Amino acid sequence: MCGIVGYVGYDKAAPLLLKGLEKLEYRGYDSAGIAVCNENAIQVTKSKGRLKILSDLTKEGQTLPGNIGIGHTRWATHGVPSVINAHPHLSELKKFAVVHNGIIENYIPIKEKLLKAGKKFVSDTDTEVIAQLAEFYYDGNFFETIKKVLSTLEGSYALAILCDDYPDEIIVAKKNNPLIIGVGVNENFVSSDITAVVSRTKNIIRLNDGELAVIKANDIKIYDSNYNEIKRDPFVVDWDICTSEKCGYDHFMLKEIMEQPLAVKNTIGPRIQNGKIVLDDINFTKEELNNINKISIVGCGSAYHVGCVAKYIFESLLRNPTEVEISSEFRYKNPLIDKNTLVIAISQSGETADTLAAVKEAKKLGAKVLSIVNVVGSSIAAESDSVLYTWAGPEISVATTKAYSTQLTIIYLLAIYMAEKLSKITASEYEFYISEIQNLPVQIEKVLSHKDVVKDLAQKFYNAKNVFFIGRNIDYAVALEGALKAKEISYIHSEAYAAGELKHGPISLIEDGSLVVTLATKEDLFEKMISNIREVKARGAVVILITNERPEDINEVSDFNIFIPKVCEIMRPSLAVVPLQIFSYYIALLKDCDIDKPRNLAKSVTVE
Ligand code: GLU
Repeated sequence: MCGIVGYVGYDKAAPLLLKGLEKLEYRGYDSAGIAVCNENAIQVTKSKGRLKILSDLTKEGQTLPGNIGIGHTRWATHGVPSVINAHPHLSELKKFAVVHNGIIENYIPIKEKLLKAGKKFVSDTDTEVIAQLAEFYYDGNFFETIKKVLSTLEGSYALAILCDDYPDEIIVAKKNNPLIIGVGVNENFVSSDITAVVSRTKNIIRLNDGELAVIKANDIKIYDSNYNEIKRDPFVVDWDICTSEKCGYDHFMLKEIMEQPLAVKNTIGPRIQNGKIVLDDINFTKEELNNINKISIVGCGSAYHVGCVAKYIFESLLRNPTEVEISSEFRYKNPLIDKNTLVIAISQSGETADTLAAVKEAKKLGAKVLSIVNVVGSSIAAESDSVLYTWAGPEISVATTKAYSTQLTIIYLLAIYMAEKLSKITASEYEFYISEIQNLPVQIEKVLSHKDVVKDLAQKFYNAKNVFFIGRNIDYAVALEGALKAKEISYIHSEAYAAGELKHGPISLIEDGSLVVTLATKEDLFEKMISNIREVKARGAVVILITNERPEDINEVSDFNIFIPKVCEIMRPSLAVVPLQIFSYYIALLKDCDIDKPRNLAKSVTVE
C-alpha cells in the first residue's frame, strides 16, 4: 500500500525521487524517506508525516548528491509511524538500504537469529530484517546475496535495494505486491505505480511474482523465479500527464467525480460495434457460458458495493443465482464453488491482496475467473482467465468515484452481453439496453451539472453526526456506497439499510433532526419508499430524497429532493451515486478534511 520509487541515471536522484513520491503519496503517507548513494556511501533522510516535511528538510532534494537512489512513503503495518520506522531501512554497517512494500511474515525468527548473531536493530518494522539479513549474508556479491535473502523471506514484498559497493545499480524483487520499471534513455526508474514515472517515461516493464531485476542507467536485467535471465519488452502507456495531475481542481476526488462521463464513455468505447456488444477479452465459449450455474462476485469496499448492484442485475436479467462476498471472507470460508461457477473479481488497482487471494482460491476450486480491473497487467488481471478492463485512467483519490462508475459500466455490458448470448432477452430489449448504455455518459453529465444543488445541501448538513442511507433493491446497493463515502472522506458515522429493514431495529436510532438520505429510483417500489420516508419523518427525521419520480405531492413527503434523469432501471445506480459522491465531497471540504488522503486509509490495499 505504500509507495516505492527508485532512480538510476545521470541526473541528481533525490529531487526526482521526491517528485515520484509526490505522485505515490496517496498510497500511504504516515512517513517518508529517501536513500541516495554517492561515492560508495549511502545517505538516508527520513521524516514522519507528509512528504512536504521531507522535501523541506532536503531543500527539495537539492542538498543530497548522488545519481542513484530509492524512496518510500509508508503505510505502517509493523511499528508506529515514526522517523525510525520510516523506510529506507539501513543495515547496521550501512552497506544496504531497503524500501519495502508488503509484510515479511517470518521476520520474528529472522530477527531473533540475527540478534543472536550480534546484529543491532533500531526499528520495530518487519522490513529492517531484509537489510540486516543482506549484510549478514554478504560475501561481496550483491546479486547472490539478495537471492539468498529472498529465499529466506516469507510473505509479500515489492523491494528496491541499494548496496554501497555497487553504486550504479538497484536490485528489485516482487512477490504479491506491484512493481514496475520505467525505461528511460540513459536512466531507469522503478516504482510501485506507473503514475510516479509517467511524466519522465511512458515505457514500462511490469515485473511478475518471483522475479528479480538488476537496474543500471543503461542496462536492465530481469530474472525469473529460477534466476534465469529473461527478456521482456516494455509496453507504452498512453496516459497523458493531466490524467495524473489535478489540472485546476482543488482535489483529485472532485476531478475524478467530474471525469466520470468520460471514463464511462471510454469504458464503453469500442465494446459496442455496429449495435452489438463486443467483449473480445472474454475467453469463454458459448457452452461454458451456458454451463454457468452460479455467479459469485468478490471485492472489497466500493468494489464489493459494485458487486451488490451486480447481484440484482444478474439475477433479474439472467435469472442466474448470484452471490456477492467480501473478498476477505470468501478466501477463508471454503467457498461453495466449482467449475460451473463464474467468479467475478472486482478491484480498481488489480492488486487488492484479499481479492487476489480470493481469485487464487477460486481457481484452485476449478471456477472460471473473470476480473474487472483498472490497471493493465496487474496481478489480479494476470491470475484471471479473462479480464475486462475499466478505462477509468489513473484514480488518485483514495475514495473511489470514477473507478466505481466504470466498474458498474462493465457490469451492465457483461450482463446485457450474457443475457443476449443466453437468449434471456429479446432482440428489441437488447437494442434498448445498448442505446441506454451509449446514452449513459450524457446522463451522468446532466447529474453533474446540478452539483450546486447538492453542494447547498452539504452546507446545511455538514455538522450532522449520523446519516442513514436507505433504499430498496438496487437502490439499497447504492445506499451502501453512499454510506461508505460519508464515512471515508467526511468522517460522519453513517449506516446503510434496506429500507424495509428499518423497522426491525435501526428505526430506534431515528430522533429529532436525524438525517436520512433516501434513494427511490424504482417505480414499482416508489410507494413503499414513500411509506418508509413517512415512518422516519414521523419520528423527527429530516429527509433528502434522490429519485427520478416527480409526483405532485412530493414536497409534502420529503424535505429536500434531488432529481436524476430516468434511464433504464438497471443503469440507475450510475446516476444515483453521483449526488452521494458530491454530498460527501462538499461535507469533507466544509469540515476541512484531507479529502484525497483520508486518515488511516490508503488507495491500494495490498496487505491482508
Ligand atoms: N511492513 C512494512 C512496514 O510496516 C511496509 C509497510 C508498507 O507497505 O508501507 O514498514
